[in-house]
Amino acid sequence: PFEVLIVGGGPAGAAAAIYAARKGIRTGVAAERFGGQVLDTMAIENFISVPHTEGPKLAAQLEQHVKDYDVEIMNLQKAAQLIPAKTEGGYHEVVLENGASLKGRTVILSTGARWRQMGVPGEDDYRNKGVAYCPHCDGPLFKGKRVAVIGGGNSGVEAAIDLAGIVAHVTLIEFDSQLRADAVLQRKLASLPNVKIITSALTTQVHGDGNKVTGLSYKDRNHGTEHDVELEGIFVQIGLVPNTEWLKDAVSLSPRGEIEIDARGETSQPGIFAAGDCTTVPYKQIVIAMGAGSTAALSAFDYMIRLPAS
Ligand code: FAD
Repeated sequence: PFEVLIVGGGPAGAAAAIYAARKGIRTGVAAERFGGQVLDTMAIENFISVPHTEGPKLAAQLEQHVKDYDVEIMNLQKAAQLIPAKTEGGYHEVVLENGASLKGRTVILSTGARWRQMGVPGEDDYRNKGVAYCPHCDGPLFKGKRVAVIGGGNSGVEAAIDLAGIVAHVTLIEFDSQLRADAVLQRKLASLPNVKIITSALTTQVHGDGNKVTGLSYKDRNHGTEHDVELEGIFVQIGLVPNTEWLKDAVSLSPRGEIEIDARGETSQPGIFAAGDCTTVPYKQIVIAMGAGSTAALSAFDYMIRLPAS
């Protein structure tokens, strides 16, 4: 059994593993895919103190840094169930999809999230070649260019306002007949001169020249007509889904399925902590996930030194 069992091997899980191992306690990381979302990222320019890196490179460095310590990495292992300890200080059990089970005196959940995709032709082909999901990350790459934001909820409208200050022109495309964002955001958006809002529109295709995005097509849902927009970038903002389906019965989740944590990374279950994109943390970024993973590991250590000697 582990003293600290981490589920998820992205930036949050890697940081948690290093902080835990540095306390000299038995640490394990089970991950479906070590590296997490970073593996799907190209340019990273907001990882503070590293002006430019690339996702696969950072993922390899995360793994190398963890391996510098005595941490058992169990890659390609998907957790299917969490059974919290029956008594305070007892072992929590994580059941893997392959039927095996792991035990931890404390558990840190860092299973991350995934961006909901449009599922239209061209989206996958031009991912990282104009199709983007994170305005904080990729917005500056489109300076002075034309972009679309898909989705008129809070995140889509926030993205459009953010991008309007950087790019030449933003087209916001919403499926519904009206935007769903807060009124204050909608008013701000409407005041911007370089934003066009199109409602009742279903994006049907991403176009490109083989190397990068050149435009998109959408269908006007009221008239059934097809339209094309020429542009260089498409930000898909139709939801970030936390990888927490397997935790429903184990810890408290928010209405969006995010693990509810406090400032120390504690969940609703004593001895179970969480960090990164799978939690209620307000912003989802690499540096933030790393800070949260470190916090969770220090909290797990604090929790253990307070347990009665057994
Ligand atoms: P993740 O990176 O999602 O890692 C989750 C880990 O949990 C993975 O190892 C996964 O395999 C594992 N896992 C999931 N479910 C299970 C399970 N049931 N059992 C076991 N393991 C499981 N952020 C930036 O700061 N800068 C950027 O430039 C940037 N660009 C991005 C570009 C793209 C295309 C994407 C998708 C994201 C980008 N982000 C960027 C966001 C950043 O990648 C995330 O905020 C960060 O990776 C979150 O770290 P995490 O450890 O919480 O989760």
